Amino acid sequence: KRTSPAQNEFYQAVEEVLESIEPLLEEHPKYRQQAIIERLVEPERQIMFRVPWQDDSGQVHVNKGYRIEFNSALGPYKGGLRFHPSVNAGIIKFLGFEQIFKNALTGLPIGGGKGGSNFDPKGKSDAEIMRFCQSFMTELQRHIGPHTDVPAGDIGVGTREIGYMFGQYKRLKNRYEGVLTGKSLRWGGSHARKQATGYGAVYFAQCLLSDLGEKLSDKRCLVSGSGNVAIYAMEKLYELGAKPITCSDSSGMIYHESGIDLDLVKQIKEENHDRLKTYLDTHDDAEYIAREDYPENGHSVWRYQADIAFPCATQNELTEQDAHALAENGCLAVVEGANMPSTPAAADFFIEQKIGYGPGKAANAGGVATSQLEMAQNASMQQWSFDEVDRKLQDIMKTIYSDCKRTAEQFGEPDNLVLGANIAGFKKVADAMIEQGVV
Ligand code: NDP
Repeated sequence: KRTSPAQNEFYQAVEEVLESIEPLLEEHPKYRQQAIIERLVEPERQIMFRVPWQDDSGQVHVNKGYRIEFNSALGPYKGGLRFHPSVNAGIIKFLGFEQIFKNALTGLPIGGGKGGSNFDPKGKSDAEIMRFCQSFMTELQRHIGPHTDVPAGDIGVGTREIGYMFGQYKRLKNRYEGVLTGKSLRWGGSHARKQATGYGAVYFAQCLLSDLGEKLSDKRCLVSGSGNVAIYAMEKLYELGAKPITCSDSSGMIYHESGIDLDLVKQIKEENHDRLKTYLDTHDDAEYIAREDYPENGHSVWRYQADIAFPCATQNELTEQDAHALAENGCLAVVEGANMPSTPAAADFFIEQKIGYGPGKAANAGGVATSQLEMAQNASMQQWSFDEVDRKLQDIMKTIYSDCKRTAEQFGEPDNLVLGANIAGFKKVADAMIEQGVV
């Protein structure tokens, strides 16, 4: 039952999973007898804390910090930290819940967790970001560890923030250990981690298209977001001969018919930490639509003629109206780089219309999978080559796709990868929970 409006996204994620696993529960009464659902929806532990920090003028600010340790049946809690003003306990809970199944799908020994803060990194100086990260880690360090809980990045948390947090952890604990992933390549990071979520989503799209008798080359692609996931999805799309023609940030979107200038987007977002609107300073033939001018009930980024859509920004950014527009414009497939970017009505529409649909918890699992590869490298004090990690990532994405597809077929809905992903992920976690007793 939905009892708290502050947890809408969490309920949305739970309802999707519960609906999909119904046929499995009918077939195997043990999951109900063992109260697996009741146990799964209750986090093992939820931590909320105060994060006080000083800005450059000496003014003191206070933000809220969160870490949710949702389920450790398959391994240490693993999941990113999100720094964004929209973060609240409900958002972290939804992300932590999704993470359980995503991590299970990778086939690697990682449990589900998530965390973050309502801190807004936009417009902050490097020194302010550092002081915030140090304060955040001063509390978080009590709860994490390489065998307990290993956070990574997410929205607003990249290599720079991971660096500041790692530095503070090391200083407080006097231990140099793999307690965070997404670290710099100079000190414990893994090759291909930065690229992994975006590349992984495109590898997933390759599998999906191949089942539809199609290829990526020459495909026009709509991408949303211009952060870590979007940038490396676009990079891999170009490498495979496809053409991304849109991208966006929280202020607006760019449409560039001749193809997005990826070097420029990297410079604007990764180096200058600036607004996407400045893209027009270099390319006056591109179109920019400000967020205020998006259509009602939708996002302009999904309103162009294209073959494939890659939502790579945030939750519920692709509405039912957007889904209809995509179908009318001939879209063959939607592959989610972000977590839960399609509203439930949009996702149902894709499945009904037989538009190829790769849900986030399967299609974007390449990031967390590569984070686990970073943990493995840290534990063995090795660093593998880019090609070696990328090969493993490709294999993992192929296996995730085929597990989801096979499970969907087994349950009589071959085109429903949402059902396939949810059942395949749930079974791994639920069986481990049963074997570990009532805990
Ligand atoms: P980044 O912070 O690097 O980029 C996020 C992008 O989305 C930015 O372009 C940002 O715009 C935009 N954005 C963020 N919030 C909103 C909003 N409320 N409305 C519109 N646009 C928004 O994050 P990531 O690329 O890492 O994450 C993107 C998505 O992918 C998230 O859903 C995340 O949970 C998911 N994900 C990330 C993984 C990873 O490895 N990084 C792994 C798996 C999933 P602006 O620049 O204006 O803030």
